[in-house]
Amino acid sequence: MARAGYMIPMLLGKLTKKPVTVMYPYEKLEPFKDIRAKIKFDTNLCIGCGICARDCPSGACYMVDIPNPVDKKKKTPHFDLDMCTFCGQCDESCPKDAIKLTDEYELAHFKRGELIVK
Ligand code: SF4
Ligand code: SF4
Repeated sequence: MARAGYMIPMLLGKLTKKPVTVMYPYEKLEPFKDIRAKIKFDTNLCIGCGICARDCPSGACYMVDIPNPVDKKKKTPHFDLDMCTFCGQCDESCPKDAIKLTDEYELAHFKRGELIVK
């Protein structure tokens, strides 16, 4: 009984407060500052050095046999968001600023291939 005496005022108090949750996906919260989400890659800045693939801790970034747009003798990186931990190391390591982690956090897709950033 003592417990009910404690809980009822607490529950009534909650009824007058704004809910902490939102009706996602109809309502969305603003991403917090400095969030690291979907990778944006600018192929025109990339020189195919491979540093991003070398430094990626999860193997999500790897070089593929597609001629680099800037230096045709070099390869091009791909980023598999399926394996990405969004650590931001590739962004840190890239000497050409070709990689940016954006605030785009909604990454649900029907096909896994759609999660590869090229
Ligand atoms: S954010 Fe981290 S895990 Fe993802 S591709 Fe870049 S280095 Fe790899
Ligand atoms: S580190 Fe930058 S310039 Fe080098 S391959 Fe990766 S994206 Fe291209």
